[in-house]
Amino acid sequence: MRTQLDHSILKKITFLGIVCLMILSVSCKEQTSVDINTSDSNSEVINQNDIQRIEPPHWWIGFESEELQLLVHHPEISNYTPLIDYKGVSIDKVSKGNNSENYLFIDLIISESASAGKFNIKFQNNNEDEFIATYELKERTKPAEDFIGFDSSDAIYLITPDRFANANPSNDSFDNLKQKTIDRTDGYARHGGDIEGITNHLDYIEDLGFTTVWPCPMLINDMHQGSYHGYAITDYYQVDPRFGTFEEYKKLASELDKRGMKLIMDQVANHCGLEHWWMKDLPFNDWVNYQDHYEANIDNWNWQVNKNSNHIRTTNQDHYASEIDAKEMTEGWFVPTMPDLNQRNPFMSTYIIQNSIWWIETLGLEGIRQDTYPYPDKDFMSDWAGAIMKEYPNFNIVGEEWSTNPLLIAYWQDGAQNADGYRSNLRSTMDFAMQEIVVKGIKNKETWGTGLKEIYVGLANDFNYQRPEDIMVFPDNHDMSRIYTQMEGNVTNTKMALSYYAVLPRIFQMYYGTEILMDDFDKPGDHGLIRTDFPGGWKGDAANAFSGEGLEAESKTMQSFIKKLMNYRKHSKAIHKGETIHFAPQDGVYVLVRRHNDEIVVHILNKNEDAYTLDLSRFDELKLQGKTFRNIITNESVVWEQSLSLPTKGSYLFSTKTN
Ligand code: CA
Repeated sequence: MRTQLDHSILKKITFLGIVCLMILSVSCKEQTSVDINTSDSNSEVINQNDIQRIEPPHWWIGFESEELQLLVHHPEISNYTPLIDYKGVSIDKVSKGNNSENYLFIDLIISESASAGKFNIKFQNNNEDEFIATYELKERTKPAEDFIGFDSSDAIYLITPDRFANANPSNDSFDNLKQKTIDRTDGYARHGGDIEGITNHLDYIEDLGFTTVWPCPMLINDMHQGSYHGYAITDYYQVDPRFGTFEEYKKLASELDKRGMKLIMDQVANHCGLEHWWMKDLPFNDWVNYQDHYEANIDNWNWQVNKNSNHIRTTNQDHYASEIDAKEMTEGWFVPTMPDLNQRNPFMSTYIIQNSIWWIETLGLEGIRQDTYPYPDKDFMSDWAGAIMKEYPNFNIVGEEWSTNPLLIAYWQDGAQNADGYRSNLRSTMDFAMQEIVVKGIKNKETWGTGLKEIYVGLANDFNYQRPEDIMVFPDNHDMSRIYTQMEGNVTNTKMALSYYAVLPRIFQMYYGTEILMDDFDKPGDHGLIRTDFPGGWKGDAANAFSGEGLEAESKTMQSFIKKLMNYRKHSKAIHKGETIHFAPQDGVYVLVRRHNDEIVVHILNKNEDAYTLDLSRFDELKLQGKTFRNIITNESVVWEQSLSLPTKGSYLFSTKTN
C-alpha cells in the first residue's frame, strides 16, 4: 500500500463510539473467540466464558514452540490471578499492562504431554471473586511440513475482495458497523464484493490458468471511511462481516485445496486501523508508536497534529542515516488513520507472531503476503518470519518493499550476505524493479542504451539475488496503474510485457481484471479507479467477464491470451525451474530462453512494425537446429532452421512441448 491510500478525515471518539465498540467486541466473540459450544467429557470443564476477550481464542498442541501467551482483556482483570489445572499446561508467568488495569498477559507452557481438549482458566482476586473462561487446545489438522508455500510454479491472482464479485447482497452493510454506505459509483466507498463471490468463481480463476489466490486483507476494518481496502484492521481475529463469515473464509481455503490451488493471506504487522478496539484502552504506554502524542491529541486527531512516517525506507540499510530519520521512518504512522504498532514491545511482538500462526493453522494457508515490509521494526520482522518458518518449514512469505532498487529487493531476501549482518528469514520479496523496467523498455525507443536493452540489462541484476525464482514479479497490483494504462492503451505492448513477466525465473502475480484490459485512463493512478468492479460480479452488470457475455472483442482476445499463457506456464518445468539464457537485443528483437531437460521455451520480443526475419545463426549455442516448436498462443508449428519469420510486432512464445 502507499501513502495516498487513506486520507479519511477522522471522527471524534464519542461515548457512543465506545459503546458500539463494546457491542461489536461481544459479537466478535461469538465468531472467533473462546469456543463454548461443544460438549466435553471432563465434567470439571463447564464451557463458561465470563471474560470479554482472550486472544488467541484457541490454540493447538504439537507446535515446535511450547510457549503461548494469552492476552486477556476484561474490566479490572489485572487485579485477578489466573489458575489452570490441566495436564501438560502450566502458567509460566503473568504480566500486567502499565497503562490499563484491564489486561493480563498469561505465558503458558504447553508441554508434549498436553492433549487436545478444553480446560478452565479461573481468575480469582483477594475477595474470592471468580471469573471462569474455558480455553481449548486443538489437534493440528495436518503435519507442519504439509503447509507447502507458493513458489515459482505458481501464478497468483490478486483480488480486491470488495470489487470482485458480490455473491451475497445481504451482507453488504451492517447497522452496527461505522461505514454503512454502499455506493458503486464511488471508488472509495464499499461496493459489496465478498468472500463467497471469490469462492463462486474459482472455476474461472483456475480455468484462466492461475494456481493461487491472494485476496487483499479480509479481516474487519470497522472504520468510518475507506474500510473497503482492508488495510486498517480493527480486530486481528475477526473476518469483516461485509466480506462474510469465518466459515466462509475457511470454505474458500478448502475449495482452493480441493482444486490443488493455494491461498495467500494478506497480513499487516506494521499498523492497525485507528478504530481498533485496543486504541480506546491501550495496555502499555508503548503499545503503539508516538502513543503520548496520540493520547494527548485523541480528541482532535487530524492531519495537522499527526506523526507520520517520513517514508524514507532506505534508512533500514543506509549506514549514514541519522537517528531521527530512522526513527521517523519506523515509528511514524503510515497515515493518521493507521496507528503504528510498536513491535519492540515484547507483548505486541508475540501478539502479532501468534496471530499469524493462528491464521496459517486455521485456514491451512499456503502463504502470507506481508504489507509494508520495511516499515515495522526490522529485527521484529526477522523474528516474525523466523518464528513462522520454524513452525512451517515449507511455507512461504512475500514481503512488500516498494522499491525499484535491486539492492533493496535483495537485502530483504533470506540468505543475503548483508553488510550489516541482517538476516530476514523472508523467502520472497517483490520485484518492483523488473516491473518498471519492462514497461519502460517496451515503450522506450530503441537506441544504443534504451528500449529492449534496458530490460536485458535489468534482468542481469539477478546476479544480486540469492534466489531470483523466489521473487515475485507482476505487471500491476492494487496500488499501481493497470498495465494496460501503463502501456498507454497499446494492446500489443501490454501482451509483450505480460508474456515476458510470465516466463521470467520468478513467481508471477497479476491483478484481477488485467486479463480483460481493465484500465484507469480517466484518472491514472487513482486507487478507486484501479480497483474497479469486475464486470459480471454484480447482478445486472452490462457485461460479464466470467461468461464473456457483453465483453468487447479486445478484452476477449486478451482474456484468451492470458488463458493460453498461464495454462502453459502452469505445467512448464522450464519456466518453473529451468535455466535462463538471454541474448542482447539486436534490431529491436530480444530473445530469452528457459530450458529444463527436453522442454525449451523461446520467448521473443519483437519491436519491428514490419515483417522481420530473424537470423538464427547467432543462437547456435542453444543447439536447436531441426527442432520443432509450437507457438503457444497461435498453436502454429515452426522448425528451427536458418531463420525465423516474425510477421508483426509483438511477443512470440515458442515451446518444444507440442501438446
Ligand atoms: Ca456482499
